[in-house]
Amino acid sequence: MSVAIFGGTFNPVHNGHLRIAIELAELLGVDSLRMIPCALPAHREAPSASPEQRLEMLKLGIGEQSQLLADDIELCRDGPSYTIDTLRAIRAQIGDSTALYLCVGMDVLASLDSWRDWQQLTDYCHIVVSSRPGYQVPQSGALADWISARLCDDLPTLKQSSAGKLHLCNLTMLGISSTAIRHKISTGEKIDYLTPAAVVNCIQQQHLYE
Ligand code: ATP
Repeated sequence: MSVAIFGGTFNPVHNGHLRIAIELAELLGVDSLRMIPCALPAHREAPSASPEQRLEMLKLGIGEQSQLLADDIELCRDGPSYTIDTLRAIRAQIGDSTALYLCVGMDVLASLDSWRDWQQLTDYCHIVVSSRPGYQVPQSGALADWISARLCDDLPTLKQSSAGKLHLCNLTMLGISSTAIRHKISTGEKIDYLTPAAVVNCIQQQHLYE
């Protein structure tokens, strides 16, 4: 048994998120990957859709897919959503010996050193990074040193421990972003096939991002 989490604003969730989440669940061999919308992002302005609306869209987007799970753990806390708090809470639930994977895109890794207590993240989990066009592994500075001290190319080796390493992987990054979806809606363009039909319907019914 191991646990994988994939956080984001999911404003709104799209097929890029869902495809990578499925591939990560399969790569890591977890029964389910928990997708965790943040309540209040720590490093950007408040999203235009409420946390409840973003969670509802995430649940609709996941639909019947049993490998993915919408987890409201950050919505149940007040104040900014810090990943370190989420990791501590999950680690307390699952105990020390269960592997915990924090899945992020390369864009996120590049700014990891702006996160609260970032140097302690791998005390609680492994970090699994999927490449994203236009973003590179940081090459110099404290973050680059921190990454190279934890790098592990061999997934079976990483899976033998419950936390402490960082793995880079090449999975399918679809050229879709929430920003592009919100922009299309605001200019009256269709968003079909960028996100599941149930999410498109929800956005239309609630007049989100118009
Ligand atoms: P925005 O455009 O509002 O910044 P976003 O589309 O980048 O949003 P987020 O919710 O900020 O989505 O991202 C959550 C996680 O999903 C991050 O780890 C990010 O790297 C990853 N991600 C975002 N878009 C894609 C995509 N097209 N393919 C794979 N992963 C993605």
